[in-house]
Amino acid sequence: MVVVPELNVVKKDWRRVDVKVALCYPNVYRAGMTGLTVKLLYALLNARRDVLCERFFIPTLREGWRSLESNQPLSRFDVAAFTLQYEEDYPNVIRMMLKSGVPPRREDRGEDDPLVIAGGPCATGNPEPLADYVDLFVIGEAEPVIGRIIDWVRSSGKPRRGIEELADLRGVYVPGVSDSAERVWVRSLDEAPHPLAQQIPLVDDGSPYMPVFGRAFTVEAVRGCGRSCRFCLIGHIWRPKRERSLEKMLSIIDEGLKYTPVRKVSVIGASLFDYRHLEELCEFIVSRGLEISVSSLSPEIITERLADSLVKGGQRTVTVAPDAATPRMRSAIGKMIEEEALKDAARTLLSRGIKQLKIYFMIGLPGETPEDVVEIADLSKRVADLGYGYRSVHLSINPLIPKPHTPFQRMKIPAVSYLRDSMRLIKKRLRGDRRFVIDTLDPRHAQIQTLLSLGDREVGRAIEFVARHCGGLGCWRRALKECGIRLEKYIGGMDPEAPLPWDKIRIHP
Ligand code: SF4
Repeated sequence: MVVVPELNVVKKDWRRVDVKVALCYPNVYRAGMTGLTVKLLYALLNARRDVLCERFFIPTLREGWRSLESNQPLSRFDVAAFTLQYEEDYPNVIRMMLKSGVPPRREDRGEDDPLVIAGGPCATGNPEPLADYVDLFVIGEAEPVIGRIIDWVRSSGKPRRGIEELADLRGVYVPGVSDSAERVWVRSLDEAPHPLAQQIPLVDDGSPYMPVFGRAFTVEAVRGCGRSCRFCLIGHIWRPKRERSLEKMLSIIDEGLKYTPVRKVSVIGASLFDYRHLEELCEFIVSRGLEISVSSLSPEIITERLADSLVKGGQRTVTVAPDAATPRMRSAIGKMIEEEALKDAARTLLSRGIKQLKIYFMIGLPGETPEDVVEIADLSKRVADLGYGYRSVHLSINPLIPKPHTPFQRMKIPAVSYLRDSMRLIKKRLRGDRRFVIDTLDPRHAQIQTLLSLGDREVGRAIEFVARHCGGLGCWRRALKECGIRLEKYIGGMDPEAPLPWDKIRIHP
């Protein structure tokens, strides 16, 4: 049964490989196949003749909880490798195990059960909430260590036999065994592999399986970020910023499009705006008659030359993230963007034909006053006044979620009532102004995200409860009550001297 017809799907003979890896993205296909992580790991693992890698997602419709490639349950694989990009996906990790007959708690799994591993930014930042469910965490980037883990599984005979030995590997955290774990990362992106034959769903444009950027070849220009905004997980755990050379990027695109014949290139990277060759790269892509999609840009790098390429490449919306509206708040969070730069960028984009703008702001920042909140509406209006039309400025305004390893890791988050009042203030100020579309995260969800971001091992029981009982805010409330977990302990700020759940993780070795 083919669930999603795809280009470049890899199907191997189960009898001819030594290690079978289930690559699990704990959300739906559309979300997992929009970024590069799944495609990169799939290519890395399937490049080995002795390894077979198949993908698992949360079902979009009614396709069942089985691998996409050969319709096998998770329990038949030697390794279940989860990528943790967002904390909200944690219950889905346990749900995927439950639905496939794999005991979710590691103490209940035997030698023949799959070795459950997890990686990605959330696993690196704070593995503790899932530490009773995952056998080992990859701390940092996968490339330097994944091959060694697979070699070990191959030689061990049984997937989970003697997993304590893996704690000796750099970049690996084995709960209950490791005293500490040191982050590993790729030194040179030019030397790192990049997937060329990428999986593209052969579905209609309106299909729920279509990735966010459509049928696109994804290419990574930059990894990490050197700006270190005070609230940002990536800015603190994915250092240093590394770039691919322009030459390498052009060759990846040229080669990649031979194997992945699509008409669009999606250029990604946490700090793509700091990529030195962004203008030349975009010009190269559109000179080939291709469409282009770029992630969030920083206002000061938006030039006419760049905007022209984006327009030619069919990009209709540009996203910018000043995150705070007043200079005082931007300075408090370390986001050094000037209002004039934001307005210049908005003007340039409009003048070159990009008529849609998406702007990210946060509320609930340390030291924030009602004036800072109101200024979100007023600054947005000043930008819209440059000539933006009906529903052309999309404001995404979300509560700040404190992240591990950042200066805000011990912060108390504001009360739900404060955050609701702040949103009301902004919406009232913009009421009737039809140039704006506003979306925001419910402050109660922000509380749960904070719990998962800053949580310790105790939080795992609540995650399991939610996984077993379907989810939703009501379910989280019940979970906390049943498990005797006090939300206030996690969202109410941490004592400056208290140990932190992620103390064992060494981000800057
Ligand atoms: S918010 Fe953006 S610019 Fe700031 S550290 Fe994070 S990725 Fe970098």
